[in-house]
Amino acid sequence: MRVVEAIEKAKGSPLFSFEILPPEKGNDIQSIYDTIDPLIEFDPKFIEVTYHREEVEFREHPDGTIERKVLRKRPGTIGISAAIKFKYGVEVIPHIICGGFTLGETENGLIDLHFLGINNLLAIRGDNLPGEKFFRATKGGHQYTANLIRQVMNLNKGIYLDEELKNTAPTNFAVGVAGYPEKHVESPNIQTDIKYLKEKVEAGADYIVTQMFFDNTLYFKFVALCREAGISVPIIPGIKPISTKKQLLTLPRTFSVSIPEELQLEIDKCVDNKQARQLGIEWAVMQSKELISKGAPVMHYYTMGKSDNIREIAKAVF
Ligand code: FAD
Repeated sequence: MRVVEAIEKAKGSPLFSFEILPPEKGNDIQSIYDTIDPLIEFDPKFIEVTYHREEVEFREHPDGTIERKVLRKRPGTIGISAAIKFKYGVEVIPHIICGGFTLGETENGLIDLHFLGINNLLAIRGDNLPGEKFFRATKGGHQYTANLIRQVMNLNKGIYLDEELKNTAPTNFAVGVAGYPEKHVESPNIQTDIKYLKEKVEAGADYIVTQMFFDNTLYFKFVALCREAGISVPIIPGIKPISTKKQLLTLPRTFSVSIPEELQLEIDKCVDNKQARQLGIEWAVMQSKELISKGAPVMHYYTMGKSDNIREIAKAVF
């Protein structure tokens, strides 16, 4: 079922969804099931699976030479999505990204997903590789997510890259996109970012999932600005419970998000990560309850590979 159809069908009751990461290469898929199993009783309507492009590492050898190694540490998005769909019967939403792919490679990935009966996607650009100042499209790939969405929408009309193909079967993909309540890091201001977000919706996205935020007023303001700009699709809040003291530093650096002073002061008072994790749960419960009371259609949680805290939140919220 498409995300927007599930929202309509729920008639105002909030839906539960969460995001998982493929395990690092060398691990078994059981770690994914161990993350999902404790959450199944809360009836997730969607499970998103992130996509991780190659990373660059520099390795120093004993003779002093430095080797540049390109590694893909978390492959398996399509395989994991299919495994979840067939094991749990839950709708999966694999992320598809621009970075690292030519149009042809993207088309082949979409064909695999279509054959697997996976019809929901989250279309994302991806980040620059370490060592690159800015994101650079792969030669023959997409620079912006809006272009990736246009490619998916073409496939939905049966338009493949090879124009000579005749009588092609159309696909049936529904596409979501990312939105940033605190603006995307590269954007000069929130208005410009929302202008390009609107372009993604006009290209065919039918819902938005937000970057994590820790102050609900940022989400409410963002939704209001989107509505003013003429974006009418559902905007799903993304919630990440803080789980370690160190995340006060790492989350803002990695995701360009802010931590409210009140939350920071409370985490600072925690004597260990166990206390910080508990506080993170309580904060996320408080955020979730307010968001739901003000009409958020779906509560989407970032697990980052661990679900015990998401389970505590789901117990309190759903
Ligand atoms: P875009 O929408 O393409 O925007 C990127 C930047 O370009 C923005 O600053 C935007 O304002 C600007 N822009 C857009 N269009 C134009 C234009 N036509 N002209 C000029 N500027 C323009 N990363 C992964 O690698 N894998 C994942 O699975 C993943 N999942 C994510 C899920 C969510 C919910 C979120 C919020 C982020 C996720 N990311 C993921 C991170 C994402 O790849 C980065 O945030 C990336 O830098 C931007 O992706 P985007 O799709 O928002 O980009």
